Amino acid sequence: MKTFYIETFGCQMNAHDSEKVVGTLLAEGYQQVPTVEEAELVFYNTCSIRDKAEQKVFNRLQQFKKDGKGKTFAVLGCVAQQEGDKIFEKAPHVSLVCGSASYNKLPELLVQLETGNKRVTGLSLDTDQTFDTPFTRRDNPHRAYITIIEGCDKSCAYCVVPFTRGPERSRTGASVIAETRELAGAGYSEVQLLGQNVNSYRDPSPAGWDFATLLTNVGQVPGIRRVRFTTSHPRDFVKAIVDAIDQHPSLCNHVHLPVQSGSSRVLEAMQRLYTRDEYMRRIEWMKNARRPIAITTDIIVGFPGETEADFEATLALLREIEYDSIFGFKYSRRPNTPALALADQIPEEEKTRRLLVLQELQRDIQIRRNADYVGRVEECLVEGFNKATGQWIGRTSQHKTLNFLRPASADDLLGKYVDVRVTRAGPNSLAGECVN
Ligand code: SAM
Ligand code: SF4
Repeated sequence: MKTFYIETFGCQMNAHDSEKVVGTLLAEGYQQVPTVEEAELVFYNTCSIRDKAEQKVFNRLQQFKKDGKGKTFAVLGCVAQQEGDKIFEKAPHVSLVCGSASYNKLPELLVQLETGNKRVTGLSLDTDQTFDTPFTRRDNPHRAYITIIEGCDKSCAYCVVPFTRGPERSRTGASVIAETRELAGAGYSEVQLLGQNVNSYRDPSPAGWDFATLLTNVGQVPGIRRVRFTTSHPRDFVKAIVDAIDQHPSLCNHVHLPVQSGSSRVLEAMQRLYTRDEYMRRIEWMKNARRPIAITTDIIVGFPGETEADFEATLALLREIEYDSIFGFKYSRRPNTPALALADQIPEEEKTRRLLVLQELQRDIQIRRNADYVGRVEECLVEGFNKATGQWIGRTSQHKTLNFLRPASADDLLGKYVDVRVTRAGPNSLAGECVN
């Protein structure tokens, strides 16, 4: 039996792709091992969203250039798709290069490897198929991920994803519901629907469900108590999604809605297809919802041509919306992307300064917002136990971390739902006491 090791870089989509790849390998008779040293086959599932992420995998490959003798190395994911055959030149000890749009072909590609082929590739993006497998090996015992749409048809000027993950293709609603039912049967009560732009989901079967309909139907599967989804694109985010969250308590009251910039001028240069005002309309829908919806976002600072006034507009947007949390990134030049051709690149030190200013402002906002939770009782799904502090780690429907002590009981709470009264709040988490 052949042994394999896999390391995953990047986003949740990649992490879940790896769960499917691992399931496929196990079904093919391979055995997973926890270290590179023990493995005959070494897989890196890679990310190329920013330059740093891409460099990580080449550093990793470099590490094993000399002491990887006798092992077979495979590069999967976005760097594989982006660099293609060039990886064999940069890292001659690599034998398989395969992008996510070709994972359906992995069993065939593995046979080619087994027969001694030293340059095996799966790089076609010309597909209308999604990577559906009955063999997914799930890492998270509490939350199960379900891919509903792969690829991306947008062309944001800074982004490599359309080049690395191919065109958009949705799974049928029936197959998503079947997977959700199966997960509920296996004991999962929380699922997260995944896609680069879940809002443009469109059921390819005659049922033709849109995203809000799919979401509602997933939320009604018996046994499912929490449904999350990521990522939303503001252009395709419609009011029906907020209405669905309002109507169905199983749909978590948290929306991640990446804005990227608070300046309409920069949004246009980024080819994001919405203005600041249009974005704000979506925020209003959420702020007017019956259940308070936590809103989080992604911001890129230092996009080519971003002036001090543009950056100020982003800071003003943060003050106005008061996000529950943000992911801030310095703009990174990516191969093939339209923004490469733009003049007026912002110096690295200036990008760093803007990122720090952004993060400091957001920290103040989070301290203020989280303080409002003190005294409230929140339902938590218990996801872990911190031995060092003796606290359970809970997650609220709004996706906030709530650490709590449960006095005088050694019950195993993992995977259970408990009510917790919030007694303290920090910028990144809440703390409290279990009340049931
Ligand atoms: N599809 C999602 C969307 O449209 O927001 C997520 C795409 S990406 C995996 C996650 C985030 O990375 C983006 O929202 C963006 O903020 C950031 N990102 C993408 N390309 C980038 C680049 N070239 N430089 C810096 N950040 C980038
Ligand atoms: Fe990239 Fe834009 Fe597609 Fe998101 S919507 S994956 S940022 S191109």
